[in-house]
Amino acid sequence: MNPKQSVVVVGSGIIGISVGLALQQAGCRVSIIDRGSPSQNASEGNAGAFALADIVPLATPGIMRAAPGWLLDPLGPLSIRPSYIFSIAPWLIKFWRASWSDRFPSLMKAQAELMSFSRSALERQAQLYRGEPLLRREGQLRLYDSRDTFRASSSYWQACREYGITYDLLGSSREIEEIQPGLSTKFQHAGYTRDWLNVSDPKQWLKNLQDQFVERGGLVECRDVRSISANSNTVEVYCVDESLSCDFVVIAAGAWSKSLAQTIGDDIPLETERGYNTTFSPGHFELKTHLTFADHGFVVSKVGSKVRVGGAVELGGLSAPPNFDRSKILLSKAKQFLPTMSTVDGEEWMGFRPSMPDSLPVIGTSPKQPRVIYAFGHGHLGLTQSAATGELVRDSILGKPWPIASSPFSPGRFRH
Ligand SMILES: Cc1cc2nc3c(=O)[nH]c(=O)nc-3n(C[C@H](O)[C@H](O)[C@H](O)COP(=O)(O)OP(=O)(O)OC[C@H]3O[C@@H](n4cnc5c(N)ncnc54)[C@H](O)[C@@H]3O)c2cc1C
Repeated sequence: MNPKQSVVVVGSGIIGISVGLALQQAGCRVSIIDRGSPSQNASEGNAGAFALADIVPLATPGIMRAAPGWLLDPLGPLSIRPSYIFSIAPWLIKFWRASWSDRFPSLMKAQAELMSFSRSALERQAQLYRGEPLLRREGQLRLYDSRDTFRASSSYWQACREYGITYDLLGSSREIEEIQPGLSTKFQHAGYTRDWLNVSDPKQWLKNLQDQFVERGGLVECRDVRSISANSNTVEVYCVDESLSCDFVVIAAGAWSKSLAQTIGDDIPLETERGYNTTFSPGHFELKTHLTFADHGFVVSKVGSKVRVGGAVELGGLSAPPNFDRSKILLSKAKQFLPTMSTVDGEEWMGFRPSMPDSLPVIGTSPKQPRVIYAFGHGHLGLTQSAATGELVRDSILGKPWPIASSPFSPGRFRH
């Protein structure tokens, strides 16, 4: 197919920008349009981890037995807004179905393949766009509260081994302390993934890529897209005040992509998992590595010279205002786990993770319209999988075979 295609990418988050760069590099004429940022775009405020070891889908076998306990625990990692229970029910049923033993292994295999490809795509992206100085290579400590929860995580570590992710298991607070001083001595068990990567700051990472897209002749415009229509020759993108014609459109509008897909007749079960974090200015805690508190669903990461405490999953849709009590819960735990950390005067933030019930993103051509390509639904892993998504969308538009199996990511996979 002719690489001189004109492509409009809807969304200038990390997925839209990575798609734009990959298409631009292949010779396409690319415009990226975005309605201008509410600061809740997940790409600016996330934890900054290239979580390449996180190959285990969220819907693990047995998760539905654990979920009621989390929901009942006011300090638990999961909450559902009561007013949203009926709206989220169909998604939760699909989530539960994804955890069954006839589906879970193939979902994990697909996630592991995408992660392995994400690692090499990130290296290419970092090299092409001066990304290396913006990366931190400081590893990750995944911490467990007790011997029991550590033992219960054996399938996680087994999966990592099976898919070639290297790690060391630590069995004493002394070994943990050598990597990260200042943790509560209750932590006696951890896994250390040495070659885990972080960006120094997700906002800066995004800005660097955006700047380089523009430097290379790409166009980023402020427009609010309302609907899309397409025929066999062209696509029409209807914005609030005018419409744009192009050869292909890529929908990379994060958690807001579902309603745009509906305008061309695709019903894709995208939801949002709202996440919270609080960022502290330098001096609050000296962080040496990325910390994941596996039994509590939150992380502590470095952002520039600041420290960010973030995580939590709140199912509540796109329109409800933030409930920053969720951040305060994370902080009360962070204070227990990092006793010397000061948790005053932090800056609170909430963002919308675009999430699919089977934990795999939607990447590929619309079942209804071959000129409409989807790239959304990366959930907790959008930064990690962004460079890979850019290359896969490029291959879809240029009609090239993918380097990994495409069907697990297909937009039509929930149709039956
Ligand atoms: C608390 C938290 C921590 C996280 N930590 C990590 C992490 O450490 N590592 C990781 O890999 N991932 C992490 N994630 C997930 C990651 O941030 C997301 O998966 C990723 O940012 C999604 O990127 P996106 O480009 O798809 O969406 P977004 O960043 O939300 O961008 C979508 C864009 O589309 C635009 N848009 C929407 N609708 C329209 C429209 N109609 N017209 C025009 N423009 C439109 C929006 O304005 C927005 O700019 C985290 C998320 C949260 C909330």
